[in-house]
Amino acid sequence: MYDDLDKKVAVVTGGSKGLGSAIAVRFGREGMSVVVNYHTDEKGAERTVSAIEEAGGRACAIQADISSDEGARSLLETALSEFGGLDVWVNNAGMENRFPTDELSLDDWKRVIDTNLTGVFLGSRCALQHFMETGKHGSIINMSSVHEKIPWPTFAHYAASKGGVEMFTKTIALEYADRGIRANCIGPGAINTPINKEKFSDPEQYEATVSMVPMGRIGDPEDVASAAAWLASDEARYVTGITLFVDGGMTLYPSFQYGKG
Ligand code: NAD
Repeated sequence: MYDDLDKKVAVVTGGSKGLGSAIAVRFGREGMSVVVNYHTDEKGAERTVSAIEEAGGRACAIQADISSDEGARSLLETALSEFGGLDVWVNNAGMENRFPTDELSLDDWKRVIDTNLTGVFLGSRCALQHFMETGKHGSIINMSSVHEKIPWPTFAHYAASKGGVEMFTKTIALEYADRGIRANCIGPGAINTPINKEKFSDPEQYEATVSMVPMGRIGDPEDVASAAAWLASDEARYVTGITLFVDGGMTLYPSFQYGKG
């Protein structure tokens, strides 16, 4: 637990399920007020809000498409009107779909880039504008992936979006460091969330994924939420521009484990 997070205000995009929900609930346990954004799953967002309130925080759910400027702005406006400020903005929302690149349509390319990369820009810009206006030493946390580093055949648009998130985040970290504003990425590996439901319900694919994790297990959403709480807190006050991989070692070239190669 991080005492300085108590009463702080956060926006979490894509908070109706998966990593966004786990982060929002962890923030609730820290005593924070959370704007829980959802795209289509209102019930999921309401469940997240209830869990935050039960954990001791305050929360409200708001529908918005984070790939649109109006959507991002509505989240900032909600944070200000409902909770009187903003301290932490988590750009978590994201999507993926599989296509061999020669069959990837421009529409599918755009859908993933608009959500995963443009959404991160629009959300970060809202947070930066508020932090600049108020002189607040705020924190931005962007959800990247091990695929900002590891190429992923048949997910070229996804990998491109996450590589973009890494460099965008490093750039704003440098640009605003002298104003005390921090920006970091979290790079999850394979985590048990709805995005992986189909893959992990097939025992063969589940085991194949586990075999790529040196620590030998799929991650829990709470593993990622812990990283988000630390990055948001003052304990990470001298940390900016990094990607904190939460991946059980997936980025450590697992094929070399046990001295192979
Ligand atoms: P998920 O599918 O469970 O959740 C994604 C959330 O994003 C959903 O709530 C969805 O509604 C929301 N979303 C999608 N498009 C949106 C839009 N236009 N506007 C607002 N919200 C939108 O997936 P997850 O595993 O929780 O993923 C969260 C983030 O973590 C994503 O950015 C994903 O790329 C990243 N990630 C996940 C893993 C993993 O193994 N689960 C690994 C690496 C990176």
